[in-house]
Amino acid sequence: MTGSPSDLPSVRELLSHAVDAVGGTEREGQVRMADAVDNAIRTGEHLAVQAGTGTGKSLAYLVPAIRHAVESDTTVVVSTATIALQRQLVDRDLPRLARSLKKPLGVEPTFAILKGRRNYLCLHRVHTGVEDEPEDTALFDQFAISRIGREVKRLHEWSSDTETGDRDELVPGVSDQAWRQVSVTAKECLGAGRCPVGDDCFAELARAEAGRANIVVTNHALLAIDALQDYQVLPDHDVTIIDEAHELVDRVTSAATADLSPAMVTAATRRCARLIDADIVDRLLETGEGLALMLEDALPGRLDVLPDALGGAVASVRDAAHACLTALGSERREDPEEAAKRKLARSALDDVHDTAVRLLDAFDDDPADRKDVVWVTGDRQGGSPRPPALHVAPLGVGGLLRERVFGTSTTVLTSATLALGGSFDTLARQWGLPPQPQRTENSAGSTGSAGSTGTATEKPPPSDSDTGPRWSGIDVGSPFDYRRNGILYVAKHLPPPGRDGLGGATLDEIAELIDAAGGRTLGLFSSMRAAKQATEELRDRIGHPLLCQGDDSTSLLVNKFAEDARTCLFGTLSLWQGVDVPGASLSLVIVDRLPFPRPDDPVASARQRAVEARGGNGFLTVAATHAALLLAQGVGRLHRSTDDRGVVAVLDPRLATARYGGFLRASLPPLWPTHRPDVVRDALRRLDAAAPA
Ligand code: SF4
Repeated sequence: MTGSPSDLPSVRELLSHAVDAVGGTEREGQVRMADAVDNAIRTGEHLAVQAGTGTGKSLAYLVPAIRHAVESDTTVVVSTATIALQRQLVDRDLPRLARSLKKPLGVEPTFAILKGRRNYLCLHRVHTGVEDEPEDTALFDQFAISRIGREVKRLHEWSSDTETGDRDELVPGVSDQAWRQVSVTAKECLGAGRCPVGDDCFAELARAEAGRANIVVTNHALLAIDALQDYQVLPDHDVTIIDEAHELVDRVTSAATADLSPAMVTAATRRCARLIDADIVDRLLETGEGLALMLEDALPGRLDVLPDALGGAVASVRDAAHACLTALGSERREDPEEAAKRKLARSALDDVHDTAVRLLDAFDDDPADRKDVVWVTGDRQGGSPRPPALHVAPLGVGGLLRERVFGTSTTVLTSATLALGGSFDTLARQWGLPPQPQRTENSAGSTGSAGSTGTATEKPPPSDSDTGPRWSGIDVGSPFDYRRNGILYVAKHLPPPGRDGLGGATLDEIAELIDAAGGRTLGLFSSMRAAKQATEELRDRIGHPLLCQGDDSTSLLVNKFAEDARTCLFGTLSLWQGVDVPGASLSLVIVDRLPFPRPDDPVASARQRAVEARGGNGFLTVAATHAALLLAQGVGRLHRSTDDRGVVAVLDPRLATARYGGFLRASLPPLWPTHRPDVVRDALRRLDAAAPA
């Protein structure tokens, strides 16, 4: 893309206008980021921007994106990982920006939100009443079946009131089982051309609106589906902005993961019953039963070798699903209800068949060349048994992103955490971008390798590609004075965390820290088991209210925690990234252990092995990267506004003593470091004394 002279005001002028309109103040990092995004759009060179909390990064990318979209009469796609950010953009930032930029741009910029087809009510299904049988009637009691029936009835009534058909606008919501009765996936959709209500279709209307909008807000899953599928999901666009980019690889991996279970095979047989010869359907049903038998004997976990018997069962499922597909025949002229039934059947059969093929292919190559990892889940024990299933996920998504995202539009990736160990290279490799340390610009504005530790390993880990799209990285810093307002305390004197839960010394340390802080503590634990153990052992001991994730809905618990400064909240993964509590309610963040993936995590362990097979250090490249991203997110819970002060206490001494500790520390905001418990407790006591009553 080349820049062209334009009568429109510059990005800086527009940004200043927008900041004035929302009553903010100009921030240096925000201006630098807006300039960098504008430059990326003009040159077509991809950009990674690390922008700390408080930078105002959404304005910094939205303003140049809107300017470009208006100038070129085109669409810019903005993708987020979380619904919270999606809502913030669509409900708050974009309406205010659109109003404030109308005058200087001479036209009010437009925006739209686009979700996957399954999120919209399908009018054709509502009108024709084509229902899915419950997946496994035996799993639903009569009460559940009548509840689903009531919900479906409500959805039918809602279908004539709603203007968008968007599930998120239905309050109160309904169960997934009920929603599935009135929605379709993209594969199940008849296509607007064939569908008798295609002109009124909510999903089609949303797509059309998105096609006309300057800015389309979507999520990483839909971005991944757009990249994975042969059909186009997103409107034509030449610029993609990926916010919360630290989540991109995980979200794309999830979207590219496929499952195969006996229940899915059974559901496919139900869908094609009465459409094709009963013998052919029965054959598929039998292969599903055969698969269930084989999975009974399979232990949960990663499969490095496909046992012959299990492989035979999967191959039988593949062949039987193929026979059903052949019997179903190609699409033909038929009444819409019949067409919808066939479409549902075909989609379920395709899923079963294609996943079986992929599962079998995953074991074909030399282990070093494998593209996918396969694992078994299932739990026949305990109070809530999970039926067994096979899963297949990609070992890497860099090739896909390079070809289908970076290869098709100028892409800006941004987050508060992208420069791991001070360098963008670790994540860039996962995204399929070549390493480019010489071109990386750090927060001081200089060029060159941005960090002292570079990647997690001494030598660069193997990359999907050492050549590829041009990109640059920039860290615009944060307006927060982390060193002045925060302490990183690593409890070096504690023993390293063991396998048998939290030790006595660690629990004592937690109690003493909370006591010094006067409550005000967010405990981020690496497992639910540890969070519960700490809650049980400390609830009667600390003299402050203590909430644990799972006691109630997480949002309710976070609200209670924010409202009462003395209250403490303990929990696990979603709290690491999802808590936004500025002020004196949160002065202490405790991390019990470094958040490495579990050793039995099938995807992480297979990725580690793949790196090792190519000569790299798997543990450091995969596990340390994972831990660095999550730890930085956890540490980021402390400072949510410029006035926030406090302590992050990491009770895992490996952050100070292990070889990879430097890489992890260099991935965190620059808090003032100490190992001294007395210094930290004094600081917490002073903060408690100074906090508003
Ligand atoms: S076009 Fe597809 S999603 Fe829309 S109403 Fe028809 S079948 Fe449903």
